[in-house]
Amino acid sequence: MSRTSERAVKSLERLIHDMAEKKGIDPDKAVHVFRLIVSPTNSKGLSDEDLEPLTGYKQGEIRKILRLLYDLRLATYRRGRHPKTGSTRYYWVVDREALNTSIIRRKKAVLEKLKTRLEHERNNSFYVCPQDGSRYTFDEAFDYEFVCPRCGFMLEEDRSSSDYARALEEEIARLEEEIRRDEKEIFGS
Ligand SMILES: [Zn+2]
Repeated sequence: MSRTSERAVKSLERLIHDMAEKKGIDPDKAVHVFRLIVSPTNSKGLSDEDLEPLTGYKQGEIRKILRLLYDLRLATYRRGRHPKTGSTRYYWVVDREALNTSIIRRKKAVLEKLKTRLEHERNNSFYVCPQDGSRYTFDEAFDYEFVCPRCGFMLEEDRSSSDYARALEEEIARLEEEIRRDEKEIFGS
């Protein structure tokens, strides 16, 4: 559970970056806050007041980022008391289990896409334009009477498609093995 691969964290950072951008939050700041929370030195959690001097970002910005991480189910909080004033504070931590589950979910989604693509490759023969490299299924090429609709060159059968299918197969096998390893590590099954 405690181990989260560096590569997986990178892929989450890309997700945070994209989602922050969509919400009008500075994406680099969002990734920065996530890195601070995910850091092993932060096992007790960081409050927004802790994060302010650590980042130099405004309180409002930090709250929006924390809310985003919460909505993405990457961060969670525990309630605590301010050591001096006794008022309620929220200490933000990364929910490791949710994090790892989310990583596996993303890998599975990629796996499904690869499988669909492989099926598409296997069920079709392809034609390619020697001039501009555009690629068509047999049905499309047939409709165009084997002439490229973009430039008028005769389409040729794409002989590299079996190489592409083989590369996809290898990628699928690699990813399946990776997911198996992750699940074993996280769920012990
Ligand atoms: Zn062409």
